[in-house]
Amino acid sequence: MQQEMAIHQAGSSSESSRLAALASYKILDTPPEPGYDAITRLAAEYFRADSAGLAFGDESRVWIKSAWGKHAREIPRQNSIFNLVLARNGPVVVADMAGWNSPERPIFMLHLLNAAFFASAPVRSPDGKILGVLTIFSRAPRPGLSAHELRTLENLAQIVANHLELRKLRLVSSQRTKMRRAEAALDTSKAWPRRADLRRALDRREFVLHYQPEVDLATGRIVGVEALIRWMDPERGLVSPMEFIPQAEKYGLILPIGDWGLVEACSQIREWNCSDPLNGTLRVLVNLSARQFARTGLADHVESLLIQFGISSRQLGLEMTESSLIPNIHTAVDVLGGLHNLGVVLLMDDFGTGYSSLNYLHTFPFDVLKIDRSFVSRIHEGEQPRQIVRTIIELARVLGMDVVAEGIETYDQFLFLRKLGCRYGQGFLFARPMPASEITNLLRLPGRILPDFPEPCEPALLPA
Ligand code: C2E
Ligand code: MG
Ligand code: MG
Repeated sequence: MQQEMAIHQAGSSSESSRLAALASYKILDTPPEPGYDAITRLAAEYFRADSAGLAFGDESRVWIKSAWGKHAREIPRQNSIFNLVLARNGPVVVADMAGWNSPERPIFMLHLLNAAFFASAPVRSPDGKILGVLTIFSRAPRPGLSAHELRTLENLAQIVANHLELRKLRLVSSQRTKMRRAEAALDTSKAWPRRADLRRALDRREFVLHYQPEVDLATGRIVGVEALIRWMDPERGLVSPMEFIPQAEKYGLILPIGDWGLVEACSQIREWNCSDPLNGTLRVLVNLSARQFARTGLADHVESLLIQFGISSRQLGLEMTESSLIPNIHTAVDVLGGLHNLGVVLLMDDFGTGYSSLNYLHTFPFDVLKIDRSFVSRIHEGEQPRQIVRTIIELARVLGMDVVAEGIETYDQFLFLRKLGCRYGQGFLFARPMPASEITNLLRLPGRILPDFPEPCEPALLPA
């Protein structure tokens, strides 16, 4: 039991750098974020505790950032658990409050919660500053925590810290996006393609699907392919979806283009199944945009396509991003539930770049989480991006989801991800997106194993 601590006031210069670190996350004055509730629920469930809470401490107040059944969102910092953790510079476990009469007793929270036991782990910034605490409470005394349990509590606090980092990256990138949009609005040449260009392309059947293999990182076996749309413009050649999907969304043409893509992908699945029954285990992943997702009866539409093309629902995967869920948040539970009941594989694309990642994962029936390319490409930059990738993989494991890492370009990235237990990967290191006919050739390879799959033969250059 660690009840005997002497409380030292943190030095004022380290306190000011701690406060500066805390301020950079911009979390104190924000509304409650359900993402935090997901993590405290997970902690309470795991430890079979009566409740769990997450709070951040500034110079005088402790800001409670998870639902805890009381109205107060902030309490005085004096005599708080946060103060204890800060003074100790590490976790604090108190088995039974009744036996502890120190003047530093964290009365406020414990009295309100009527708790006898608590265990609290610090949430730290990447350079070790204590920003807040993740705490589990029980009304009855408990024997303490085993070393393993304490490590798990610290790992959960680390997940919170990484969530904060993701949030910070997102704030920076959304500011950059706003600036780019403002620049693009001034530049009229960026207006291409216009509505009429896209309409004409649809009528002339100028869109094509290319497919990029998704491989099992342990064996190099192709387990699926992602359908990625391209436009064969007679004048400009092959046009990237990044150049026309946003315009198609703006002009309301994403629905017919998306419908075409779904039908084309289903017809391709049937073709591959016909050429070799073993291909029946291949899954084909199609990207959905927000407008397609908002449409009523999406699940019925998908079901009728499955019947029309005679394919199994497990062969079709639908990828959507968090930002496409947000405008449809009220119908998302029903739409995703309908698709899930059909047995269609649901993938959260570009994970980490959206708004409230943790909460969406907990609420919706996603089967697979795709780690965004921006995180994979930063793996070599240092401990912090590596920790983010590690945490995302761990989070998926806790939630029982499969993980696909996107945009693997280097051998080191591949080794690092594989060592962490990331099951699947996609990227130029293995194969670029290619026309269906080239995929057909790859599917004929023995065991569907990519011919130039890099067999790991050296130890990873990066620590896992
Ligand atoms: P996404 O769904 O995240 O697709 C992955 C993108 O990453 C693809 O770009 C792919 O070519 C690229 N990629 C894969 N591996 C690597 C790599 O190792 N390095 C690099 N640098 N890039 C890699 P693409 O084909 O340009 O597609 C961009 C985005 O356009 C897609 O991102 C998706 O959001 C959207 N998109 C593509 N096809 C469709 C579609 O049929 N419907 C809708 N609504 N959106 C689509
Ligand atoms: Mg995708
Ligand atoms: Mg993606």
